[in-house]
Amino acid sequence: MKIGFIGLGIMGKPMALNLIKGGHELCVYDVVKERVEEVASAGAKAACSIAEAVKDAEFVVTMLPNSPHVKEVVCGEGGVLSAAKPGTILIDMSSIAPAASQEVAAKCAEKGVKMLEAPVSGGEPKAIDGTVSFMCGGEEEVFEKCRPILALMGKDIVLCGPSGAGNTVKLANQIIVAVNIAAVAEAFMLARQAGVEPQTVFEAIRGGLAGSTVLNAKGSMMIAQNVNPGFKIDLHIKDLNNVVDTAHRNGTPIPMTSVVMDMLQNLHLRGMGGCDHSAIAKYYEYLTGVKI
Ligand code: NAD
Repeated sequence: MKIGFIGLGIMGKPMALNLIKGGHELCVYDVVKERVEEVASAGAKAACSIAEAVKDAEFVVTMLPNSPHVKEVVCGEGGVLSAAKPGTILIDMSSIAPAASQEVAAKCAEKGVKMLEAPVSGGEPKAIDGTVSFMCGGEEEVFEKCRPILALMGKDIVLCGPSGAGNTVKLANQIIVAVNIAAVAEAFMLARQAGVEPQTVFEAIRGGLAGSTVLNAKGSMMIAQNVNPGFKIDLHIKDLNNVVDTAHRNGTPIPMTSVVMDMLQNLHLRGMGGCDHSAIAKYYEYLTGVKI
């Protein structure tokens, strides 16, 4: 298949490489030229503009930071819709606000372009391995056409419902992860100040009801004082902003999200926006003056 691929960052680059390995013809674009050259050296065609990347494509894949980037790249001047042929399928893998995704899908439909939203969870290691989870939103027929392409980049591929549903599921995922990380940090600090090693807490509870993927992956980072990303605090703030926007549209109470958002904003202002989100533990360390 001829695929136009836009957005070659932490996630997009390895995912594009997996499509090349799968035998697809990629034409790639990113505002950062070096990223385009890097993927081109692995066998893709380098494009100098969005229009060039998508004009001959049967599928267009985007992996961009947030809603405004997707709106600009798809609907903006010189964007995907200015050059893609009717019948092209757009797969947007970015994590964006559900309402923004629905808006973009409607603009695509006006131009005869079908859109599947396919945000992912899993992070860079799974993007490299081709094992991310996809939570998709769109029409079933479009989903089935996209499935073989998604299968080269991910493992669990679920159609969650119509446009907006995939990004809603992604937001649910981000609430659970954020609150879970904060709970682990709070529990570790409680133990530390009461005289029990967090490592002991980890070993004693990991097999019980409090055990989780978050405890295994992020709890160990807190104990090791490792804040290298991973998933950056600033990206989690972006996702929780989309949670707040969606919750306010629907009247959903989100007290837990709001508390963790406050912690993340505080850490951002302390210059930690580029650190892994497990650095929520630092919020507790700043308040107590005690290291986990
Ligand atoms: P990133 O910032 O590393 O990559 C985004 C890329 O988009 C960059 O290369 C940037 O130059 C490019 N870009 C921005 N505006 C552009 C434009 N107008 N035209 C062309 N290219 C443009 O981000 P990432 O970590 O790869 O994340 C991408 C998406 O995946 C985000 O929505 C993020 O929330 C989500 N996500 C990330 C992770 C993770 O662990 N990093 C995990 C799951 C989901």
